[in-house]
Amino acid sequence: MNSSPLPFARPSINQDDIDAVVAVLESGWLTQGPVTREFEERFAETVGAKHAIAVCSCTAALHLALEAVGVGPGDTVLTTPYTFTATAEVIRYLGAEIRFTDIEGPSMLWDVDGVAQAIAEDPKVKALLPVHVAGQAVDMEGLLQVAEGRPIVEDAAHALPTDVFVDGAWKRIGSVGTVSCFSFYATKTITSAEGGMVTTDDDELAARMRVMRLHGIDVDAWRRYREKGAWGYDVVAPGFKYNISDLHAALGNSQLQRAETFSAQRTAIAQRYNEALADLSWIELPTCVSHSSHCWHLYATKVRPGTIDRQQVIHALAEAGIGISVHFKPLHLHSYYAQRYNLKPSDFPVALDQFERAFSLPIFMDMSHADVDRVIAVLRGISC
Ligand SMILES: *Cc1c(COP(=O)(O)O)cnc(C)c1O
Repeated sequence: MNSSPLPFARPSINQDDIDAVVAVLESGWLTQGPVTREFEERFAETVGAKHAIAVCSCTAALHLALEAVGVGPGDTVLTTPYTFTATAEVIRYLGAEIRFTDIEGPSMLWDVDGVAQAIAEDPKVKALLPVHVAGQAVDMEGLLQVAEGRPIVEDAAHALPTDVFVDGAWKRIGSVGTVSCFSFYATKTITSAEGGMVTTDDDELAARMRVMRLHGIDVDAWRRYREKGAWGYDVVAPGFKYNISDLHAALGNSQLQRAETFSAQRTAIAQRYNEALADLSWIELPTCVSHSSHCWHLYATKVRPGTIDRQQVIHALAEAGIGISVHFKPLHLHSYYAQRYNLKPSDFPVALDQFERAFSLPIFMDMSHADVDRVIAVLRGISC
């Protein structure tokens, strides 16, 4: 049996990606410049947004987005505990408070009824921060209704490309909420090694995020000066250093051309898993919701209650050299959030239950049929 390590995730890098990066190295311009602009334009087109602004990470994107919509001290931002810490930490960067509300069940997506209830209870709720977990979108139609005009900043780190059904039509994530935030971290659906993108249709928010991305420098004013051959620029706010480099943008831009192909490749792997594992009584396969497409960033599955111990499964896969992960250890189980907000594990019972049974299988573009079958064989060999 093949015992060479099979990673949980691995980026798919081809010669076009390499050539694009090398071309930037040879161009003499390494940091944010013409390639970044091209990446932004193509990204905006891909998701159907008016503006796309490239940044150094999704975390930076979320921070910029919340700052732009006016989140600050005294505000509360609602989000889900079923996510990575980046989603919620940015709320604290701005001195605002986090309020978690639970997920709806096996899809691991945010429960809109719980959001509505929290909004009704808490007049300080300034913005909503949904997470499109694993590659499926939150019920954006429902969320837009309960938001009653409050900004929706989406953590779309898993959701490229994902379509969601809103107002009788399928819309691409990136064109639906107030601001959408994407990740191009090495393991995400496309990569720029490190990087992220914010998209919005709002001209003012876009202008603010462009300024805050680079030290609060008013770039448009700067350009105006430069056209006259002067060196001047104006700092209008204490901004951040969140720009991307052309080196990273070149890789992201090249990968973006394959985003649909990558999604199709992951979907084929998910189908192979679904078919081969359907008859195992102890496994609960991923749930597909009807209001969203699925780009299968994660194949997040669970052990059925009262069958076998999740640790037995994780151990069997590890013994066979297969990388796994768990999505997610909910934030309220981490000491910072638990202590700061005085939270008990049972405060979000659905998130707790999903987490305790969760394990994610490898699903990456260049996984061969043999790789997938190897994972399947280990799972089928587990006796309960
Ligand atoms: C990866 C991830 C992030 C952070 O992305 P970075 O680009 O690494 O900052 C945020 N939210 C979720 C749900 C993620 O999976």
